[in-house]
Amino acid sequence: APPDPAEEPTGEVRTVIRIRPLTDMERMRGNQAKIVQSSPDGAAVMAYSPDGRVTSMSFNKVFDEGTGQADFFEQSGVRDLVVQALHGYAVTIFAFGQTGSGKTFTITGPEGPQTADTVGIVPRALNFMFHQIAAMRDSGQLSAIRVQASYLEIYNEHVQDLLNPQNATLPVRWSAERGFYVENLFIVDCDVLDDSLAVLEEGLRNRTVAAHDMNEHSSRSHSILTIYLETQAMDASEGRPVKHHGKISFVDLAGSEKVKESKASGDTFTEALSINKSLLTLGICISSLADPRKRLGHIPFRDSKLTKLLADSLGGHGMALMIACVSPGAVNMQETFKTLRYAAKAR
Ligand code: ADP
Ligand code: MG
Repeated sequence: APPDPAEEPTGEVRTVIRIRPLTDMERMRGNQAKIVQSSPDGAAVMAYSPDGRVTSMSFNKVFDEGTGQADFFEQSGVRDLVVQALHGYAVTIFAFGQTGSGKTFTITGPEGPQTADTVGIVPRALNFMFHQIAAMRDSGQLSAIRVQASYLEIYNEHVQDLLNPQNATLPVRWSAERGFYVENLFIVDCDVLDDSLAVLEEGLRNRTVAAHDMNEHSSRSHSILTIYLETQAMDASEGRPVKHHGKISFVDLAGSEKVKESKASGDTFTEALSINKSLLTLGICISSLADPRKRLGHIPFRDSKLTKLLADSLGGHGMALMIACVSPGAVNMQETFKTLRYAAKAR
């Protein structure tokens, strides 16, 4: 069913699990045993412990390894979030999980050359968004729109602009009008789909070029691609056009295995601590929001750069989709269980 545009976001975090297939490497090493799978109705993860116990944990939806990119996009609820952003709400889609669990595959697509079948959520959502904009214009729901995009990375609690990479660390500021924002961040006008896809490509390229070791780098950094939507629509009750500011953030989080890292020195120590800080703070904010007793109390958005920048979509009238990515392999059991527990707290 098409999403109901009149439906007001509730500040809810929807949580879905995506189980990736075993990789060729895992298969070669003989790790054939799968320790997690979706329940038949797709509403729970069944996790198998070595002692034979089966634990069932329920989520909004669980996707097995057989779910391709197109089906994942259709069924994970991204369309609804795009529609809500076009109606002036701040929404976030983020991927959480250990390094190698499929976050980047899910958010942007596999590394290297891609086809229409393999691309991830971002290009699909952008494509849908521009179609939706055209439809809303045709039906008179929209009289004017401005689409803009930015792409940044938080590495070691420093914000870096992926569209202007020689720029030094950028400060995060707050204003009553804009909430938290990154000062001097490059923000690009996107009149058509291709403009926004160019932003994605440019950011991905700069991310790779800047890193000595891409795997190590992406396991430590959070990247945020943001789409800003300034819409103008006729308001029937007011009898005049009204402006709205919507926002979509696509977030590829640092590897969750860093959360517990503690025995490091020098720079690595600060990195471990701050990655810890952003992911931990995100976890605290999300679990507080999910708890009706804590929801109206103090939510510590200010404790990390990541949560400052996502505060508007996580609190209040925002809406978020958390995609917890897990590997099915027995070698990753500990991290997989940790990811599932983290995700369960968001509900
Ligand atoms: P992460 O970003 O969490 O570190 P990646 O997205 O890089 O993990 O995925 C690790 C590897 O697994 C990559 O080779 C990727 O192409 C592959 N992969 C991840 N998810 C899937 C999936 N759903 N289907 C097929 N291959 C996948
Ligand atoms: Mg990655």
